[in-house]
Amino acid sequence: MKPGTKLLHTGREIDRTTGAAAIPIYQVSMFDQPGLDQPGAYDYARSGNPTRQAVEGVLAALEGAEAAFAFASGMAAISAVLMLLNAGDHLVVTDDCYGGTYRVLTRVFRRFGIDATFVDSSDAAAVTAAVRPTTRMLLVESISNPFLRQTDTAAMAAIARAHGCLLAVDNTFLSPYLLRPMEAGADIVIHSATKYLGGHSDLIAGAVAVSNPDLAKEVYFLQNALGTGLGPQDCFLLMRGIKTLKVRMDRQMATAALLVAWLRERREVREVFYPGQGGVLSFRLASAEMTAAFADRLQIPLLGVSLGAVESIVAVPSRHSHASVPPEERARRGITDDLIRLSVGLEEPEDLIADLEQALIHA
Ligand code: PLP
Repeated sequence: MKPGTKLLHTGREIDRTTGAAAIPIYQVSMFDQPGLDQPGAYDYARSGNPTRQAVEGVLAALEGAEAAFAFASGMAAISAVLMLLNAGDHLVVTDDCYGGTYRVLTRVFRRFGIDATFVDSSDAAAVTAAVRPTTRMLLVESISNPFLRQTDTAAMAAIARAHGCLLAVDNTFLSPYLLRPMEAGADIVIHSATKYLGGHSDLIAGAVAVSNPDLAKEVYFLQNALGTGLGPQDCFLLMRGIKTLKVRMDRQMATAALLVAWLRERREVREVFYPGQGGVLSFRLASAEMTAAFADRLQIPLLGVSLGAVESIVAVPSRHSHASVPPEERARRGITDDLIRLSVGLEEPEDLIADLEQALIHA
């Protein structure tokens, strides 16, 4: 089955009890047991809820995974994956990773004795050089943020296998429609489902997909023990959003290609970053002042954090996604105030170009 069909027909989206075309929102905290010695399929909703189980089934089917787990946010998903590690363990991480990933590693997990080395994971030799005897995980972003560099997941899987560590891929920017890292040998796939999977700027959610039953057991244990599973209303919204992933992504990519070509022709634009796929692009203007004026003048895109939505969203990474990265680290990575990120939505391309043009002319 092709990905676009699979998004709609995973076998988990119909309510088998009634035939309803969507799984109902089971808005409950507990389930009545048939008898004292007869536990039901569900007992307490932190441990399991039919709406969550349905979306988890859809996520697992899309990733080609053994199992998947829906979390309260992308950060809850990443944190659960990091909690597979123990004190004394080391991991290698994509250096221009999401700012929240950098923050949780340096300000939370480091306190618990888990140490991270940040390297450019588009450079496989740099990743290999960063591996230590205590390295237990490679945590890479398939497309990094904000420079949108691609990481070769098959090369990362080979390094992980050679060193006996886990490969976890944050695939938020591509989604399972464009990349399924497990096919290349990843053990774990993570999403901020807030972005392309949900797609409508109406929920915060995360996902973890795993490749084998042992990891499934461990991640389920953490989801239940930490109480970070996704609530039923948000599971419903996530499931609804996923159904249109392909049509959204196809349209957003087509518009992104037009915008990239247009931006590359503009003398006000110093550099354009686009990995050739996905709906996010970044570019630099001549100065921080120009970027600030440009962002303020734009009429159509929303201004702020997030990406992957039906509405275009413009962000200045130094002020938004990477504001939690210390200024000296931001400067080292080139995340300066002249850099803009644009997540392309479903607006008509001509309207977006006209809006970019008027904002550039007056910046
Ligand atoms: N991973 C990536 C690549 C992200 O861009 C984000 C958020 O922007 C996250 C993880 C965190 O996800 P959430 O905001 O859903 O917690």
